[in-house]
Amino acid sequence: MQSLDPRSITVMTALMAAVMGAVLLGMRRNYPSGIQGLLLWALAPMACAASAGVYAAHGLLPEILIAQTGNALLLTGCGLFYFGTQRFLERPVTWRFWGGIALLSLALLTWFFIRPDYRVRMVLFTGTMTACVLAHARLLLWHGARTERGFAAWLCIATLLLQAVVLVLRGAATFWVDTADASRFTPTFVQNAYIASYCFSVLLLSVGVLLMSSERVRQEFELLATRDVLTGALTRRALLQAGGEEFDRWRRYEHPLSLLLLDLDHFKQVNDRHGHLVGDRVLAGSAAAIRAALRGTDRLGRYGGEEFVILLPSTGADAARASAERVRTALLAHEPAPGVPPCSASIGVAWAQPGDTSLDTLLARADVALYRAKANGRNRVE
Ligand code: GH3
Ligand code: MG
Ligand code: MG
Repeated sequence: MQSLDPRSITVMTALMAAVMGAVLLGMRRNYPSGIQGLLLWALAPMACAASAGVYAAHGLLPEILIAQTGNALLLTGCGLFYFGTQRFLERPVTWRFWGGIALLSLALLTWFFIRPDYRVRMVLFTGTMTACVLAHARLLLWHGARTERGFAAWLCIATLLLQAVVLVLRGAATFWVDTADASRFTPTFVQNAYIASYCFSVLLLSVGVLLMSSERVRQEFELLATRDVLTGALTRRALLQAGGEEFDRWRRYEHPLSLLLLDLDHFKQVNDRHGHLVGDRVLAGSAAAIRAALRGTDRLGRYGGEEFVILLPSTGADAARASAERVRTALLAHEPAPGVPPCSASIGVAWAQPGDTSLDTLLARADVALYRAKANGRNRVE
């Protein structure tokens, strides 16, 4: 490590961070605008690249100018990564607080240029960076790991924690390895390791946020493909897929399986009298009321216009009838929003029986039962 030239490592860091910034910036253009924080994440490695570029000019310009510009840019890069994550997770962005801390730190650093002491400057700077890095890791641990749950969030957390460890060690080591008049490119093992680890942190953090945003895009598309936008219920395709899987489970392990086919009563009149928009609100409100009456393992899907299917895994005939009654009364009891009329439902119940060959046989029986419920006066379970 000692044989590595710190200036070369710094130049490499600058180039690599600039490339990562460009990659993130390009990727941002192809991502849905609903995903926030990408611009800040793209600017972060660019600020780090700029800081490394400035540091690499060590010896060519007055040291105070290089150090303070480089430090300001590096703190900015560190902050931008953090603010990007705050935006990405839709948390408030605390740029005033951290901007204040950075300015205070820079002011103190200037003071220790006037009364020069490299060691105090090192402790001040690594201390400020550590605080920001740890705040970032904490945010990801508390919110990111829970909401994103993927490998990417953990990669970022691990990188940030490692970065914090390196920063603390570097700050502490200054009293053993540096002299008061040392400088950035004094080639000690500790300083080289510090610069090299910084180079890796920027790379890993950029890859981490890139993966985190890809995971988010995948989640959003998955949600779009499986959720009905108006009611939040499963789409017909997702419902039939889940139903098929439950049916296989019934056939293989003989776990009971039931389903309900539900159709809102006289829904066309709601549209005719109040308009389609109110009709939509009835649909959304009804779906919410149905969902509230179901157990955690039940699945609600929108089968067609105002028809819903409710899958009841591990549920036999009697329990299914009870569930259907619970849903029917929940719809009667639920208070619609002002201006939205109430709407009852008719429900056909079916359960898997010996001889059933597919989910369709259950759906067909539920359909017959639903037809009977309509014929027998609606707002009832058959
Ligand atoms: P019944 O009690 O016999 O079920 O009578 P109904 O009026 O509910 O039955 P019908 O199937 O004739 O009417 C369903 C209506 O649902 C027709 C269609 O315009 C309306 N519809 C289907 N999808 C939507 C939707 O997404 N939004 C709104 N507002 N209306 C919808
Ligand atoms: Mg209908
Ligand atoms: Mg209807």
